[in-house]
Amino acid sequence: MTKAASAAAKDLAAAGVTGVQIAWADNNGIPRSRIIPITGLARAATRGVGVTTLFAVFDTHDAITYAHPGLATPAGDVRLVPVVERLRRLAGQPALAWAPGRQVAADGSPWPYCQRGVLERAVAEAARRGYELRAGYELEFAVAPAGSADIASTPGHRGPAYSPHALVELDGFITALLHDFGANGLGLNQLHAEYGLAQLELSLSATDPLSAADDQLLARQTIHAAAHAHGLRVSFAPIVSPEVVGNGWHLHTSLWRRGRNLLGPAYPEGAGASYIAGLLRELPALTAITAPSVPSTIRLRPGYFASAYAFWGVENREAPLRYVPGSELLGPEHANVELKPSDASANPHLALAAVLATGLGGVEDELSLPDPIDSDPGTWTEERRREAGVFRLPATPAEQDAALVASKRLGETLGEELLGAFRAVRSSDVQWAAEHGTEEIIAAHLWRY
Ligand code: GLU
Ligand code: MG
Repeated sequence: MTKAASAAAKDLAAAGVTGVQIAWADNNGIPRSRIIPITGLARAATRGVGVTTLFAVFDTHDAITYAHPGLATPAGDVRLVPVVERLRRLAGQPALAWAPGRQVAADGSPWPYCQRGVLERAVAEAARRGYELRAGYELEFAVAPAGSADIASTPGHRGPAYSPHALVELDGFITALLHDFGANGLGLNQLHAEYGLAQLELSLSATDPLSAADDQLLARQTIHAAAHAHGLRVSFAPIVSPEVVGNGWHLHTSLWRRGRNLLGPAYPEGAGASYIAGLLRELPALTAITAPSVPSTIRLRPGYFASAYAFWGVENREAPLRYVPGSELLGPEHANVELKPSDASANPHLALAAVLATGLGGVEDELSLPDPIDSDPGTWTEERRREAGVFRLPATPAEQDAALVASKRLGETLGEELLGAFRAVRSSDVQWAAEHGTEEIIAAHLWRY
């Protein structure tokens, strides 16, 4: 590793790179980082750099909660180690290279609060059982001129939704995104002007879970830098204005065994069906991890394509679990399931670990999948929903917390320590929100991600 790090550092320095940003996402989905000089890379790759244990109990507003007994004092330090295999030069910040960080204890042993460590373990456990996950994120975000206080009073484009004309005034930014995503090694599928207020969307190609989570962080850095260079700022927040559609960060996954996509070819059957059934069974608790913030619960309303009720459907855009079939044209490898209650306030490593664990739980228990629903249960009567076994997803942080606590599988996946810190942070956010109105809550989250 030291050899590889030294060689990489030498090449990068020769190309004009002077520093390495080591980044990770905290329990609020907020990226945090340290920058080291490029000459320190090899040393950091083996020894890491010191960071406080308290990042695990930072809330969304940068307040530190001491409510979790495992991290209840200001004393303590862990090592942040760059994952050198993922080192990339940042096209939009060319003096910097970027690497995701792993947090380990001072003696180098695993630290139970490391979110990336949770995903590393979940992936290894799946591999031990012969399964592999493929995952790709879709990122929705709103754009505004730099210096804007919000999106609603200064939208960065004025639509129409999906229109090429909406993008004309953002041409320099779009061009930079196309270039920088390629240069940063991010697989970009497509981008467009989305339906929401000044909203854009881009989707990342499917890859292994660790790359998908790391890439989601790198994508944010790439987008922020390109926006800044073009006099813009972007909001990844789950909701940017009370009345408009939110920013979903939908997570597409497929489960593979021996090189075969179990979700294909064109309808979920066998283990593929059980995988989706596993997600459906744990959806309330899963959502507590994949859409965990106070604004997440505002976003998850019926009729906004964000999902509000627990069910699945084939290409149903109101469904929290939207099955996307393969076809003769697209091949069986295309088939996947999209998780809609997922947004930027989720830690991407925890989100993927939670998806993998709950989906595999369904496979292990050979769960069967109910019939798909092709309409919006939000328009049904309560009685019809009850008959169809469709229930509301947790609509408040308290309901989310209750669902999370009740999920044995997710408790095991996160581990007692991380689960405790995660819940303490959520509770700290809730206490903050209790003293603020909806508009203030939305405003306070706009530029956090
Ligand atoms: N903006 C919607 C959301 O909050 C999603 C729209 C779509 O289906 O792409 O998730
Ligand atoms: Mg979309």
